[in-house]
Amino acid sequence: MSDVVELSNYINGEWRSAICEHWIEDYSPANGSLIAQIPCSSSEDVDEAVLAASEAIEDWANLTIAERADWLEKIADALESRAEEVAQLESLDTGKPITLARSVDAARSVANFRFFAEQGREFESEIFEMSDATNRVVYKPVGVTGLITPWNLPLYLLSWKVAPALLMGNTVVAKPSEMTPMTASLLAEVMEDVELPIGVFNLVHGNGLDAGAPLTSHPDVNLISFTGGTATGREVAKSASSGFKKLSLELGGKNATIIRADADLDEMMPSIVRASFLNQGQVCLCGSRILIHESIYDSFVKGFLEVVSDMIVGDPSDDQTELGALISADHRDKVMSYIELAEEEGGDILCGGGAPVGIPQAFENGYWVSPTVIDGLAPDSRCATEEIFGPVVTLHPFSDDDEAVEIANMTDYGLAGSIWTQDVDAGGLMAERIESGMVWVNCWLHRDLRVPFGGVKNSGVGREGGRWSLGFFSEAINICIKH
Ligand code: NAP
Repeated sequence: MSDVVELSNYINGEWRSAICEHWIEDYSPANGSLIAQIPCSSSEDVDEAVLAASEAIEDWANLTIAERADWLEKIADALESRAEEVAQLESLDTGKPITLARSVDAARSVANFRFFAEQGREFESEIFEMSDATNRVVYKPVGVTGLITPWNLPLYLLSWKVAPALLMGNTVVAKPSEMTPMTASLLAEVMEDVELPIGVFNLVHGNGLDAGAPLTSHPDVNLISFTGGTATGREVAKSASSGFKKLSLELGGKNATIIRADADLDEMMPSIVRASFLNQGQVCLCGSRILIHESIYDSFVKGFLEVVSDMIVGDPSDDQTELGALISADHRDKVMSYIELAEEEGGDILCGGGAPVGIPQAFENGYWVSPTVIDGLAPDSRCATEEIFGPVVTLHPFSDDDEAVEIANMTDYGLAGSIWTQDVDAGGLMAERIESGMVWVNCWLHRDLRVPFGGVKNSGVGREGGRWSLGFFSEAINICIKH
């Protein structure tokens, strides 16, 4: 018990427990042990955080964008100096491999602050000349922003919202997932260490209903940026819409990986495996449905299974580990229920399908599912169209591009996808027919932070990234001056 960390809210520059003094327990996904306790905050704590953020807004908004960019750079420096700690905490809290936490979570969290600092320095308002007047667009802060984030990429996704929110002159109340609170607290420590003006960044820990919902409905919160599941997003949208808050929803996905007949199987295989199972398949962009041209179906399946069955699943702190644990017992059970459903729907489990064999005793109480590949399901089956969000992929043959596009679009989600082909023109044309916000051709998760990021259909509303984030986190005001 002595290693259990007690985390606090960070409100108005002070570390506080929840007013009700109730706590939520945070468990290690890898071994099921208690690792932290967080305040079980409620609407009263949210009220205090929103009040602090409201009181801080005027001075923060009065800084120039270049001054706020300097603050982001300071935050990036301080965060970078603690990068290894970020990686260790993220791996402990999420169960992901330490190598992934280092290369993705820790690195990208720093990069987010640096990227938006640079965006701020380059930022220019538009001028639109008329024959008799000049229009000048001014970007004003929106006000107090409520930022709600999930557990799969905790600091990566939180920093992706905090950085542009602060840059554009807003103040922040952040509510991270109750299951992964640690690096959000570390970020609050960084804000304190760099002496960010008090009230500009506030952190409220707690669960979705008690702490998240009061934030989305709070009358003094002007903007909600939410990343999480589609069902929760629907509730957030209802709650935020009555107050006409600016709203961005980054939601779930069920993305297709399309492998055309001319694809170079050997060259692309590592990328397909990565797209399938990165972070135990708990990335909204993961390609959980692999559509393969029928002429190469058997050879692809053989090669894919060879690589997947050799993946190293286990101790997240080991540099050799490729797949760690799932986030919680409930989530593991949900993933397993889909594997059972797949069998009921007529699927064949080609590999995986349960906890990995030979997991060391120290990890027996963790939440494990080995990488699972399922064949023989109808493309419109539940397992092939609903988001599982775990290390599970389904395989489907197709006969031509039209059929591949039809299958890819056979889901209510529309977040991402990838196409693998030696004919990049055909790949590019096919990409335009996929109903999703982002399509990669011959790559996956190849991110340029300037480009729009977001989904269509049930995968979300709005876009993040580059100028899309700057636009969302500001109000564009036009001033028309007659000559
Ligand atoms: P989730 O259950 O929807 O939770 C997301 C956040 O919302 C958490 O902080 C949660 O708090 C909070 N929350 C829950 N109910 C709420 C309510 N009624 N009002 C306000 N906030 C509420 O999602 P998750 O399970 O953490 O994350 C996995 C999902 O996120 C997947 O569907 C994945 O595809 C999606 N995702 C999407 C993207 C994207 O960019 N499109 C990126 C990453 C993940 P608690 O956790 O404390 O309950």
